[in-house]
Amino acid sequence: MKTINIAIDGPSGAGKSSISKAVAADLGFIHVDTGAMYRAIGLYALRHACTEPDAITAQIDKVDVELKFIAGAQRVMLCGEDVSDYIRSPEVSMAASAVAAVPAVRERMLDLQKKIASENNIIMDGRDIGTVVLPHADLKIFLTASAEERASRRYLELREKPNCPPYEEILKDIEQRDYNDTHREIAPLRQAEDAVLVDSSHMGFNEVVEHITDLIREKLD
Ligand code: C5P
Repeated sequence: MKTINIAIDGPSGAGKSSISKAVAADLGFIHVDTGAMYRAIGLYALRHACTEPDAITAQIDKVDVELKFIAGAQRVMLCGEDVSDYIRSPEVSMAASAVAAVPAVRERMLDLQKKIASENNIIMDGRDIGTVVLPHADLKIFLTASAEERASRRYLELREKPNCPPYEEILKDIEQRDYNDTHREIAPLRQAEDAVLVDSSHMGFNEVVEHITDLIREKLD
């Protein structure tokens, strides 16, 4: 069976996951958040003190990451444990960004991501989906927003929670992750030549969801 594959790439905090999730729900597709897979490996690396490239490479065969889709929602399993609720902290974000630059980690995730895409109609979001994972995707979208806009959205999200970091720290974190993701040797973040650019700096959430859903419908018609 030929499955429909939509690739959505872009920098941290551009809203890829929440937007992909809403679009996938509209279209009845599965949403695959590949960042969660790297986050699960980042969590493993923190727990086992192996965030350095050689250390995580030596352990990668023991790191069993699996995705489950329960009522359309993705859960990420690490060695059989559902870690979906433990992978969103700033420490795990940084560890994910570090392990994601390691070739052995990427190879492992690439196989898993391709397999999921070959078996399901999916919207897959990440950094290298249009360029490496699904070079023949039915549609590729590069979703971005300015670093300041991404940081202020994140700040508004975190503001009511305990220990909310100051805006400047969030911005620094985003800039650091942008730098890591665009400068790594393997599968760096970049817009695929045939991707449609969507800059959401001045767009509301629903507007972006509608725009992307329209782009997909036009493509599939
Ligand atoms: O998208 P998210 O911020 O959850 O991703 C966490 C980290 O995983 C990113 O900072 C990035 O370094 C890495 N990542 C990646 N390739 C992907 C998805 C995420 O390198 N396809």
